[in-house]
Amino acid sequence: MSKDGGLPLNAEVFVGPLATLEDGKGTFSPTSSTLIYGETDAVLVDAQHLHPDIKALGDMIERRGRRLTTIYVTHGHADHYYGITELMRRFPTARAFATRGVVDYIRENADFQERQWRQMFGSRVAIPSDIPEVVDDGLSLEGHALSILELGQADIAPSTALHVPAIDLIVPGDLVYNGIHMMLGLSGPKQWDEWYANVDKLERMKPKMIVAGHKKPEASDREVERIFAETKGYIRDFADAAVQATSAEELVTVITAKYPDFGNPWTLRFSARSRFPRRV
Ligand SMILES: [Zn+2]
Repeated sequence: MSKDGGLPLNAEVFVGPLATLEDGKGTFSPTSSTLIYGETDAVLVDAQHLHPDIKALGDMIERRGRRLTTIYVTHGHADHYYGITELMRRFPTARAFATRGVVDYIRENADFQERQWRQMFGSRVAIPSDIPEVVDDGLSLEGHALSILELGQADIAPSTALHVPAIDLIVPGDLVYNGIHMMLGLSGPKQWDEWYANVDKLERMKPKMIVAGHKKPEASDREVERIFAETKGYIRDFADAAVQATSAEELVTVITAKYPDFGNPWTLRFSARSRFPRRV
């Protein structure tokens, strides 16, 4: 029995594989979706964005045999919510939710993101015809509270995390990465400080499991100390190197030397170029 009396919950993580961009030159990070399930029902956090991955995620949900009630979207980037329409068609009991701020972000950026994603992924991308509903209170699963942490800044703002106290799980979207180069190219030094402080806040909650929005498929979600240390270290190292480097190439070289095993170097090149836009 768990603390609040119901049967314990479980979590299963799906990771969509590294995706090659249409131009053949870049790759997109492996992206996670987390299924939290009890005896009969399930809640999904983040929905993938490419047809083959949404299909494989749906197959995983089907294998679990629980009734999907809710898809929670952590933030408004397409890679985390584009799959909602396909998934709600396949699982008609499910409704998609996000915070007011995230829904506003999705509406405001819908056209821009659609153009960007079509350019990056062509016919593989699943453009949704739905927008998540605004979640009023927190969510719940079989009597267990699932609380929403409205943290603000991660790679974009607003960003949120879902906390599942019954199993000490946090699903933080792109606030935290696991073995993958982080997207620092959509914000600047002030936002990086806020992002770092938000990671600190999550760390102080001492979760036992944390599922990064972008992670190496084989990386453990339970090595929480390592995950937090690497995420904070990467933000700090990139911020320091961004000040000292004199070119995007130099910035890439410095960070690659510190994080030689991290996946998807395309993100690092993107972030570095955004600091030196006229030099590349
Ligand atoms: Zn993402």
